[in-house]
Amino acid sequence: MPELPEVETIVRDLARMLPGARIDRVEVLRPDLIEEEPADAFARALEGREIGSVTRRAKNIVIDLAGDGLLLVNLGMTGRLMVTDPADEPPLHTGVRMHLRDGRELRYHDVRRFGRLWRSTREAWEKWEGELGVEPLSDGFTVAHLRDLAARSRVEVKTWLMDQRRVVGVGNIYASEALFRARIDPRKPADALTDAELGRLRKGVQDVLREAIDFRGTTFLDYRDASGERGEFALRLKVYDREGQPCTVCGDPVRRIVQAGRATFFCPCCQPRGRARKAAAPRKKPRPKG
Ligand SMILES: [Zn+2]
Repeated sequence: MPELPEVETIVRDLARMLPGARIDRVEVLRPDLIEEEPADAFARALEGREIGSVTRRAKNIVIDLAGDGLLLVNLGMTGRLMVTDPADEPPLHTGVRMHLRDGRELRYHDVRRFGRLWRSTREAWEKWEGELGVEPLSDGFTVAHLRDLAARSRVEVKTWLMDQRRVVGVGNIYASEALFRARIDPRKPADALTDAELGRLRKGVQDVLREAIDFRGTTFLDYRDASGERGEFALRLKVYDREGQPCTVCGDPVRRIVQAGRATFFCPCCQPRGRARKAAAPRKKPRPKG
């Protein structure tokens, strides 16, 4: 499933390629991908519109139609949005083809069809996105804000971090990776995190996301960037999907557990339960009984 770095990679590419382009003709091949209105109305409403800007909020691609509202795209599990040559034979799972006046095509492709496209007014969108959590790469992602969010939650930190109402865009892969970098046990309740741990968590999340963006995302089964290329971050994952393999820091085997139905990967040695080993007080001798 694309996470924040993959969507950000696509958005940065599209933001270079699309502004100023005009949508001439729209073909919806998979009407179930269109939300909020009939596919035909969606297609007609987009025709003739000019693309202003392309940005991201959480895992949504926000295409501003130069004063005519917004086109929103969520890639779901396997969606791809790419600029292509219309002469390229559309693959089987092509859902929407937007023919641009300059001869290019903006194509949405989705094997499993959990993605969606919809139009919105800017006002309705702002109301909707106001319910979402903080962007992890924004200035608002501070230790103070994290402490506020954690103070009210007994949820295990890995599951807590993945809740989009708190922090957006940190999915299963990057949650495991960020907690490893922060040396925090993924099972620790959020409200038990110290300020030092929250500081490390903030840095771990930002570092792993930035690094993944630099490598154009992690390639898992269906992800492709806006030019149809694979990402290269998979080779740099330190714990995710590495069960039983040696930890890159200490050499102990990486462990896999399941939390809230999702696989978590961590190193029990580098991410110890309770206080870090270094800080642990020396064990006291048991007091003699009686
Ligand atoms: Zn380790």
